[in-house]
Amino acid sequence: MLVLALDLTSRKKALEIVEKTKDFIDAIKVNYPIVLSCGIGIVKELSKVKPVIADFKIADIPYTSSLIAEIAFKNGANAVICHGFVGRDVLKEILRVAENYDGKVYVVTELTNDGAKEFMKPFARKIAEIAKEIGCHGLIAPATKPERVKEVREVAKNLEILSPGIGVQKGKLEEIAKYVDGIIVGRSIYNADDPKKAAREIKERFRKAKLTS
Ligand code: C5P
Repeated sequence: MLVLALDLTSRKKALEIVEKTKDFIDAIKVNYPIVLSCGIGIVKELSKVKPVIADFKIADIPYTSSLIAEIAFKNGANAVICHGFVGRDVLKEILRVAENYDGKVYVVTELTNDGAKEFMKPFARKIAEIAKEIGCHGLIAPATKPERVKEVREVAKNLEILSPGIGVQKGKLEEIAKYVDGIIVGRSIYNADDPKKAAREIKERFRKAKLTS
């Protein structure tokens, strides 16, 4: 699975990139930049082309988190991403909303940035355990730290794992392919001279890496 991280602020450019890459991507991940710039309506628009994962990294009290999830699903998102460090009451509330829409909930175990080791790393395993225990659908684990993805896979067992951080953030898909179900790639595709070619090549590299892993 190749997920396009569409961190653009122009609706026109975003739709152009999706049109160029749609044959090679399996889902589109939207984050705050595009939704705050273009409005929540962009989710519905994109969902007509591919399933949309709303990466709002939800991390609030259960009530507020449930509202955010509700807005995402109501507007056509197929899945939401939330933070795991907020604890199981929040995750359960988001799951309750997701069920009403037949939607998925992905939980971030740890971010891709270096600073994640200050606070998130020590709790990544525990977050993965809780997400699995309460029935979340998947985890988001950092391609920039293959050993961390390996550990998350051990805990996650058959849970889906999507991994961002390939390319610009220096993560190498060949190093994590065997642990993950999908990769999330943004700038290496939408900033490429030829986004279609970039998406095709990345998809092919991932397919080959999965086959040989
Ligand atoms: O452009 P690039 O491929 O680095 O984009 C990575 C995307 O994945 C961004 O949307 C970022 O917010 C997201 N992400 C991440 N690390 C995480 C979770 C999400 O980079 N742990």
